[in-house]
Amino acid sequence: MSEDRISRVGRVVAEGQTDFFSRPVPPPAADEVVIRIRASALCGSDLHIFRAKHPSVPLPATIGHEFSGDIVALGSAVTGLAQGDRVTVEPCETCGACDACRRGDYGSCDALTFIYRRGDGAMADYITVKAASVFPLPETLSYEAGALIEPLAVAVHAVRRADIRLGETVLVLGAGAIGLLVAALCRRSGASEVIVSDYAPFRLEMARELGATRTVNPGAGERLEDAVRDATGGKGADKILECVGRQETFVQAMTLLRKQGLATVVGIFEQTEITIPVMKLVNNEIRVQGSQGYCWDFPIALRMAEEIGIEKLITHRFPLTQLQQALTTALDRNHNTVKVVLKP
Ligand SMILES: [Zn+2]
Ligand SMILES: [Zn+2]
Repeated sequence: MSEDRISRVGRVVAEGQTDFFSRPVPPPAADEVVIRIRASALCGSDLHIFRAKHPSVPLPATIGHEFSGDIVALGSAVTGLAQGDRVTVEPCETCGACDACRRGDYGSCDALTFIYRRGDGAMADYITVKAASVFPLPETLSYEAGALIEPLAVAVHAVRRADIRLGETVLVLGAGAIGLLVAALCRRSGASEVIVSDYAPFRLEMARELGATRTVNPGAGERLEDAVRDATGGKGADKILECVGRQETFVQAMTLLRKQGLATVVGIFEQTEITIPVMKLVNNEIRVQGSQGYCWDFPIALRMAEEIGIEKLITHRFPLTQLQQALTTALDRNHNTVKVVLKP
């Protein structure tokens, strides 16, 4: 490589505290590419790290794994990609050798980890990744949309697992970024009713814009039970997606489901042990399953992003240098944030 590239890299150094360090960008290894980052979105996990509450990420830690940019350097063995390609990246790393990987089920890899956890976060000017994890952006998608393909892939994975059928009634608990994307995808999967519940009116408005047919705000005295009963004639929802991660919503997912219905749990629980009405499971023959991350979901997310109008989720934009302010804003409920995007 002729020119020397220097990258500013943002990290969380202590609870509620960030800084930047600069480092030269080394030439890529044979199977790697260097990407000039153009847009990088904050994720719930970044906020957990900022609050020093992430169970598997000790501080200091680089952050950011939802991003897009341009390829500026390619390793000698890389094929099918070129300098100047606009791309996004599937940011997980897998071992390739465990049973799950050998079955092609890499999302369940025993050694699953993320690029940012080994010191290369996307809140930076440049990032170096394996060429195999790179996905070119279609011309119709902006860099900002490209930065939201990762959370959309999480939603795609959950909705595919939930196996939505034509004409079903689906209840989505929680209208954070993932809940909103899940609701949008459920509608496009053929659900005739998509009910979304959340305590924030602006999130419910966004849910309606994305395809929710009914919204419920329990904080405004609206009862979720009533909405589900009205929509299903008292039978209960065919499918429920829990996108909050609390005992209360997990129990709702079990109790508002119809007999033999299927609940898919996507939320991350801070309280890792909860109490559930277990006889509902037995008597109603309901199924409850988890959904984590993605596996072969990026190509689908790339095809669905434009139709959903994924950029609608972006409520705030900051220059990269204002990382601290971006994180503080995202944590403050008064700011009505859904997705916060940073630009180097
Ligand atoms: Zn994420
Ligand atoms: Zn593996």
